[in-house]
Amino acid sequence: MPEAVPSRRGLPAGRAFGLLAAVFVIAFGVAVLLLAKDQQRVIEVNDRLQERTFPEIIRYQRLARNLEQLRQEGERIFAVSSHASRQQSMFVVTLIASHPSVLEHPEAAKLAREVEQFLGQVVAQSARSDKRPTSHYDEWQGIAARLGILVDDISFEGINLAGSDLQQASTAMNLARYKLVAVLLLVSLFLVVLVVLVRRHLIHPLQRIDHALSGLSADKPAPLFNTSRLLEIQAVEEAIREHHDLLVQNEEIRRGLESLANKDGLTGLMNRRHFMQSAEVELQRAQRYRRPVTVAMADLDFFKKLNDTYGHAAGDVVLKAFAERVREALRQSDLVCRYGGEEFAFLFPEISTVETVKLAERLRAGCADNAVLLPDGRPVTVTVSIGLAEASECSIEAALRHADEALYAAKRQGRNRVVIDDAKAVTNPIQENP
Ligand code: GH3
Ligand code: MG
Ligand code: MG
Repeated sequence: MPEAVPSRRGLPAGRAFGLLAAVFVIAFGVAVLLLAKDQQRVIEVNDRLQERTFPEIIRYQRLARNLEQLRQEGERIFAVSSHASRQQSMFVVTLIASHPSVLEHPEAAKLAREVEQFLGQVVAQSARSDKRPTSHYDEWQGIAARLGILVDDISFEGINLAGSDLQQASTAMNLARYKLVAVLLLVSLFLVVLVVLVRRHLIHPLQRIDHALSGLSADKPAPLFNTSRLLEIQAVEEAIREHHDLLVQNEEIRRGLESLANKDGLTGLMNRRHFMQSAEVELQRAQRYRRPVTVAMADLDFFKKLNDTYGHAAGDVVLKAFAERVREALRQSDLVCRYGGEEFAFLFPEISTVETVKLAERLRAGCADNAVLLPDGRPVTVTVSIGLAEASECSIEAALRHADEALYAAKRQGRNRVVIDDAKAVTNPIQENP
């Protein structure tokens, strides 16, 4: 049956960032539209300036210039003494008064006509004189002042015309500038928000995942993650946790298998194969550094008889009890295995043969002096014979062979004793077995 997938709460990364991008596109689009509208307004005002306002201004300027010319010609009529010069000026006055630029402005046309008539009369009255006309000058000054005012008015009118359009264009351009600044701020803000979100929801979780993956081990606790809001990150974190659980399970299985492969099932001591590998390494190390090293073989005495008397199960109990006693007697660095049946092999590194004899003797005495309690409550004393051999100059196999020879020597000498390879037995009184 497929395993139930735990339901996750969160957003898919694609949708989350898609949503963010959509918000940005909409906001940016609206801002661009507003900017385009302002741009359009500036273009319209510019067009209006080009097509209507500037020609209008030029017309006003021309009219003002003509009226100013009118005034100057009037002044000249009063200033010159030559009748011909007055007639010339009068001719220019007539031309200006009938100029289209003057005629199309009612106020200017009316004043120009008045000037033309007035100056016409002045020129007519002074027709036969080569003197400057002096009468009506005061009256002319009044008319000239009105002309001057009209010139100023028309000039201002033209300037005002451009001023209002330019004002509109400048307002639209300022508005567009503010909006552009606002849009740029909006884009910057969005980018900052995007960077913060990407760092927080993508980069940091990925860094944590990377860190967790590089440190993932069955010996360490499962990595802890702050639950992410993004489904994909959650999925990866969950996969890492599951992977860690698998690592732990595999490690447990591996240790179990290793234990099965390396340990003796009954006594829990190393088995012969594992002992030979470990002893080989240990022996080579001791020989390399010229450190003392000794091996031993131990065999329980009259074990067949014990089996026959108390049964095979009782024999097993005794084997386990012996293994326990060995564990208690040995140092951490010593190696021991169940070599086979009721035989045990040892390797004692970093200890002289004399010290090893003492250690083996303690083990032997511990067995001889302490009966093992069988499951039915009966005590049984089992002795052990031990053969020792110095191993600092030979292979593990040869050393064990020597220890075995010493063991047999111990058996021959009556059992329950420790003998070293050179057949120098450490004797002990033979005890009755079982
Ligand atoms: P010795 O003093 O000369 O060593 O005599 P022994 O009887 O101890 O030696 P022998 O080799 O004749 O007998 C060993 C016995 O150990 C024979 C076998 O049934 C017994 N044995 C071997 N393995 C086991 C085991 O796992 N459990 C039990 N209960 N007995 C075992
Ligand atoms: Mg035996
Ligand atoms: Mg035996």
